[in-house]
Amino acid sequence: MSQNNDHGECSPSACSTCSHASGCPSAKAPAGDPDAKLKSRLSKIRRKVVVMSGKGGVGKSTVAVNLAMSAMLAGQRVGLLDIDLHGPSVPTMLGLEGRRLEADDQGIIPISLGGLSVISTGFLLSDPDAPVVWRGPVKIGVIRQFLEEVNWGDLDLLVIDAPPGTGDEPLTVCQLIPDLDGAVIVTTPQKVAAVDVRKSVSFCRELNLPVLGVVENMSGFVCPHCGQVVDIMSRGGGQKLAESMGVPFLGAVPIDPAITASGDSGRAFVESTDVTPAAQAFRDILAKLNF
Ligand code: ADP
Repeated sequence: MSQNNDHGECSPSACSTCSHASGCPSAKAPAGDPDAKLKSRLSKIRRKVVVMSGKGGVGKSTVAVNLAMSAMLAGQRVGLLDIDLHGPSVPTMLGLEGRRLEADDQGIIPISLGGLSVISTGFLLSDPDAPVVWRGPVKIGVIRQFLEEVNWGDLDLLVIDAPPGTGDEPLTVCQLIPDLDGAVIVTTPQKVAAVDVRKSVSFCRELNLPVLGVVENMSGFVCPHCGQVVDIMSRGGGQKLAESMGVPFLGAVPIDPAITASGDSGRAFVESTDVTPAAQAFRDILAKLNF
């Protein structure tokens, strides 16, 4: 039975039932690579790093924001992609609340902050208090769009802030970016957090994603009055864990009210010229990562 249209050509929609063997122009037409655009965008980004944590509230976004900002301040072209779709905190931490994304014929235009290109679901929500109710397939589609439709341009580094855990979001990033350079895993010192970090390290191993290192955040508190370090949540858990799992330990950042204040005020902590132990700890970690 013929499936030709009026012009004598096969209808592509009939391919699945067509018995037209060789010589069919539709069948011969090269099927376009569905990932061509994604590959083209990613090929312009030299290094891609994901920041992960086993738990929320351990300082993952703080590390991602400061990592991106310090690389930018060092003169690199940097992008920051916030895929914490349900709880995006990057816009608040960088003072970009209320900003909206726009597009031109080259794609979606990231929000630029002094040269740092930022993308977050926070820029898509008209009501910041409304919950994002998305199932897995929608989240996968949104992350793909962020990588494929955003005109990131030429970048030296893309820092991806993933939500806590080992769910759809980090998995999607690993699948869409085969040449991801690695993961920075952020934890707090206590034992219960370490259990979750082990899962993050195992997740990376399962996906052949290098672990660039573990950051132990909120590691002790430097008393502003007496200068003594108070181990509010114990100390050293992240380091022990990194050693036991054979992954690099990047350093420990103490609790510092200036970090909380900078996050709330919309300025990255590394932008300050602080000489506190926390500021030095950040600098040492960033130096070890060598971006
Ligand atoms: P996560 O991304 O893991 O959920 P955030 O980076 O959003 O965590 O940090 C949670 C809160 O803790 C934020 O208010 C942040 O400013 C604060 N914070 C993170 N690290 C520190 C630190 N070392 N000292 C003080 N406050 C911190």
